[in-house]
Amino acid sequence: MSTPVQLAPTAPAPVAPEPAVAAPPRFVHVQTFGCQMNVNDTDRIHQVLAPYNYLPTDDPAKASLILLNTCSIRDRAEQKMLSQLGRLAPLKAFNDELILGVSGCVAQQEGAALLDKVPYLDLVFGPDHIATLPSLLDRIRGGERRLSETTFYKREDFTFVEAEPRGDTRVTEFVTIMKGCDKVCSYCIVPFTRGREVSKPPDMIRREVERLVASGAREVTLLGQNVNSYGKDLLGPDAGPRWGRQPTFPELLRDIDAVPGLERIRFTTSHPMDAIDGLIALFGELRTLCEYFHLPVQAGHDRILSEMRRFYTVDVYRETVRKLRERCPGLALSTDIIVGFPGETDDECEATLALLAEIRFNFIYAFKYSERPGTRAAKMGDTVPEDVKKARLNRVQALQEGITREIMESYVGQTVEVLFEGPSSRSAREADGTFQREPGATPPRVASVGLQMTGTTRTHAQVNVEVPAGEFWSRRWVGQLAQVAITEARANTLFGRLL
Ligand code: SAM
Ligand code: SF4
Repeated sequence: MSTPVQLAPTAPAPVAPEPAVAAPPRFVHVQTFGCQMNVNDTDRIHQVLAPYNYLPTDDPAKASLILLNTCSIRDRAEQKMLSQLGRLAPLKAFNDELILGVSGCVAQQEGAALLDKVPYLDLVFGPDHIATLPSLLDRIRGGERRLSETTFYKREDFTFVEAEPRGDTRVTEFVTIMKGCDKVCSYCIVPFTRGREVSKPPDMIRREVERLVASGAREVTLLGQNVNSYGKDLLGPDAGPRWGRQPTFPELLRDIDAVPGLERIRFTTSHPMDAIDGLIALFGELRTLCEYFHLPVQAGHDRILSEMRRFYTVDVYRETVRKLRERCPGLALSTDIIVGFPGETDDECEATLALLAEIRFNFIYAFKYSERPGTRAAKMGDTVPEDVKKARLNRVQALQEGITREIMESYVGQTVEVLFEGPSSRSAREADGTFQREPGATPPRVASVGLQMTGTTRTHAQVNVEVPAGEFWSRRWVGQLAQVAITEARANTLFGRLL
């Protein structure tokens, strides 16, 4: 049973120790659970530790710091994390230096209680404390074992770690533009684990995007829990001298669109109740803005939406979709759905199914409701039995599979722009296999099994394309845009031919 969540008090930001230039190299192993926000946090963890000579490793046995960067959006996260800690614990017997820590949302939620539960755990810290991880490690290595740091910083004291490219920049990269969430969705733990919304200054975002593009990225996805409320907290000078006033999300998009060499911008997630008209107006106007929109609806019945504290009705949502499609006829839409919210009846679930059939999203992320400790919905009880939730989820997924298949099939015969990211998983597997069996194998040997590059359309559909082997190995296609004729559609992937 998880500890009830409390909004932690805020604290002033501590100062990180000076990097020890001559520090001997140490290895850090981080295991990441959950969403893209956590993947981004893991990158920042590596980044803040790099000046202290911590090198990333995939091998926990080599590490002198092991961190589990956790997610608590749905349950079982804690059990998963505890059993993983149990598997790692024996390493401490062989390595006195080893610091074992838990970060991310479970850490924030559990705080010091996690140290009580897991006697061999050394460190627990929430997402606000990534920037000060070096000081926490310093304190532990200085003799202060078993630290828990889960206070939230005041908005004005919170500092973002300015992202540096990792050295293996991908064609498509994520850029966090804000942290936290000021919404009060009754089922959701994020406001408790990530704190209040804080927007990253727009100039910092611009620099991050420019650096990513300079090191090979062609597409960026701007990340936040509610990107369309970006900037609300950046009053006047907080936005930086180039702005001098509060930036809005559409203004930020316009600024990023101007980065030379950037081909595509995506963003996630938008909330249907935050300012959206200015955002809709940018489709068709900004060169890089992709024709794709993720707009979580969560449920298709007004009573459930009201209990969820989403503050819109199904009709308001419908109207937003109408405006989006009017402005951008080829727009791909996706959404999030929760089934089995407390008190949800069969008829209310039918309303969600009817909305899916009506709107015809390109794809959806559907979840069974999961009670989160301390949330308002947890007080309503977890009233829908597990087998009913499962049956509802199956129906939602089956309906959506049919819709997605039809939409995918409608691409056949069309010509689309594809941004190539690398070899398809099949080609990567086959190529690896070839090289493992025959270390000297040459590219033409691999060509015999067929080479495929994978990429995405602007509408976020995955496309696999056969390319000539020599060009594949010279990596000519990675990061390139090409016109592709779609010849075949499968459940989640399109296949096409280069034009
Ligand atoms: N901020 C975004 C929003 O408002 O949609 C996304 C937040 S959350 C990381 C992603 C999705 O997880 C939510 O849209 C919701 O569908 C789902 N989710 C959040 N809390 C949940 C819960 N307690 N049980 C099941 N699904 C949940
Ligand atoms: Fe959670 Fe709602 Fe905030 Fe999304 S908007 S993170 S669902 S509280």
